[in-house]
Amino acid sequence: MNLRVALPSGRTIKVKANFPYKDSPIGYRVLFSGKTAIVVGLADRGQEASLEFPDTRPFTTEKHIKALIDTANYYGLIPWHLLYKLLPSVFDWKLEEYISLSEKPIAFLDKRSLEILSWVKARGKVKEENIKKRFGNEPVKYLLELGFLTKKREWKSPKLVEKFYRLCVPLEEALQRLKRLKNKEEASKLVYFLLERRYASLEELKEQGFSSTQIRALLKKGIISQAEEVIPYTNPNLAKLRQEKKPLFRPLGSKSVLMGSWQGIKERLFEEFMSYIDRGESLFVFCDQGELLRILYEEMYAVFGDRLVLLSSFQREKDFVKNWFRVYEEKGLVVLGSRIALLSPIKDLRLVVVLGDRASRLQDGTDLRHFLFELSRYYGANFCIASPLPPLSLCLRESWHREVFMPSAEVVVIKRKPEEVLTDTALKLLKESTKEESLILVNKVGYAYAYCKACGYIVECPRCGSFLTLSKDKSIVFCTSCGYKGLASCPECGRELQELGFGIDKAVEEVEKLIGLRENVTFQTKPELGKTYDNVLVLHADNILSVPWYDSAEEYFSYMWKALSISKKRLIVQTVLDHNPLLEFLRAKDWEGFCKEELERRKEENLPPYTRLIRLEVRKEPDLSGLPVEVSKRRVGDLKELLIKVDTKNFASVLKFLRSWRLVSKNIDIYT
Ligand SMILES: [Zn+2]
Ligand SMILES: [Zn+2]
Repeated sequence: MNLRVALPSGRTIKVKANFPYKDSPIGYRVLFSGKTAIVVGLADRGQEASLEFPDTRPFTTEKHIKALIDTANYYGLIPWHLLYKLLPSVFDWKLEEYISLSEKPIAFLDKRSLEILSWVKARGKVKEENIKKRFGNEPVKYLLELGFLTKKREWKSPKLVEKFYRLCVPLEEALQRLKRLKNKEEASKLVYFLLERRYASLEELKEQGFSSTQIRALLKKGIISQAEEVIPYTNPNLAKLRQEKKPLFRPLGSKSVLMGSWQGIKERLFEEFMSYIDRGESLFVFCDQGELLRILYEEMYAVFGDRLVLLSSFQREKDFVKNWFRVYEEKGLVVLGSRIALLSPIKDLRLVVVLGDRASRLQDGTDLRHFLFELSRYYGANFCIASPLPPLSLCLRESWHREVFMPSAEVVVIKRKPEEVLTDTALKLLKESTKEESLILVNKVGYAYAYCKACGYIVECPRCGSFLTLSKDKSIVFCTSCGYKGLASCPECGRELQELGFGIDKAVEEVEKLIGLRENVTFQTKPELGKTYDNVLVLHADNILSVPWYDSAEEYFSYMWKALSISKKRLIVQTVLDHNPLLEFLRAKDWEGFCKEELERRKEENLPPYTRLIRLEVRKEPDLSGLPVEVSKRRVGDLKELLIKVDTKNFASVLKFLRSWRLVSKNIDIYT
């Protein structure tokens, strides 16, 4: 049989192979010349090659491969690069070379050599570069030649990250403990990151620029903890809690949107899932937000029991692989997974649900929702986006079926004096609601902004241009987006800086001072889906509107709308702005009015979704003169920021051109 096989390099080759199973070879994994390859098609001819098929079931399906090709074409990417980005590392086996002790008895060696051998012995096997880095080339070469050390090749399946970090004390306690720490600002950045994300793997933390030393310091202080297996397997008897089904709605179609209150969305979905299970059909729920996924898993396990299959990076490898192939064997499953699950070979997939409140993009700008939509088309499955406020482009589109679960909480908008943190209304509510759960939101990390009275401006980060944050003792400033840190003096006149506005630290301090900290009051910088609260109080989020970006009105409205979608009784919004029409829409719960107005403006100014916008930072500008684009430029530090407007038709080809330009930094932001 001649096969077309995709390699990690992005190329495909045609090979002749003995395929050992009865079904189609497309989608199977192949071990080929030291790497993991995937069969992506059949070929007319092929060269002889030695191939091994490590699985007895296909790794993914032909439909997934087709959807992948479509998505890659849309974003001007090479499809097989995308394939390898979505390949879970547990399946990405590589043949690796190790050095270990040979059988030769150790005798008559110098002290250094003995030291090397005992080092290797303690580790079993080591990589050549590691041992050479430690002991130098020559002594290692010498021991290899003498035959005390030997090289061997082994297939290595990289271990999935199993260490996860999370805050293990309340925020205020964490901040208290930080006080005694060196590098306090950096450490508090880590605390806020974990507060926002709820938990993160070591890999993620390093990606964000946090060092191992920092992580260790926080572990030692008992501020964060490490977990290996986060998801508890709940009692299977809970599955009996399944409710009687009552079909109230028409079934979801191939293009549907569920929006509004989080509780409403969830109940509606669970009911829908039940009818699929009863018909023996499978569905895939994609959720790219770690903590939300964990909460959902617990809630869904109680309803769907063993029909629920989890595919996420916080499982043990063994369970992950078992579940991966289970979805190919069985029907009538609810498959819940993060991006690591995207290629799983689900049998008889009838519904794809994208759950959550933010776009799921890869670093190269690919929106994974695009892939999932294509996938649903190849399966002929229904497709649903479930989010309090879906992307603007879908909110009003007529060809999409929409169900809105109107949030029932009352919305109260209060004018706040610029120097106030808590208005009387907010304070009174907090004082009185001793039995209710409250969430306090302040859209700013840290203590306050840094302001120079003499020059009259808020100090910006010299590296990335965001507003800097002033430390509580006013001695230093730091940047919460790029990690810059410096002394708190004005870059223009050198005078001392003052605090302006407030961040979450100051809000915590104020609440503590006025009413004390209580367990039923939670502080966050952004509303998160998952938990719901009796009261949600937005103390300060006006700063979203001061971001000079085309979608800041949408950001602001969606921040508020999301806060509303997780409040049960009241949403209190404090603002210093006198007349804010966005809050009028919120007060009237008129999401439609907001969307209409915002879309109209975007259309007039030719902004997404009416055009595509590409943002990138370059050292040297590419020559774009021959391309059908509109470009605007701006200096950012020593880089140049390019904003490129391009219509839908030329989008892929322009992206392809930009990606081929060597000096473009890796991150391309895409707005569609
Ligand atoms: Zn100044
Ligand atoms: Zn910065």
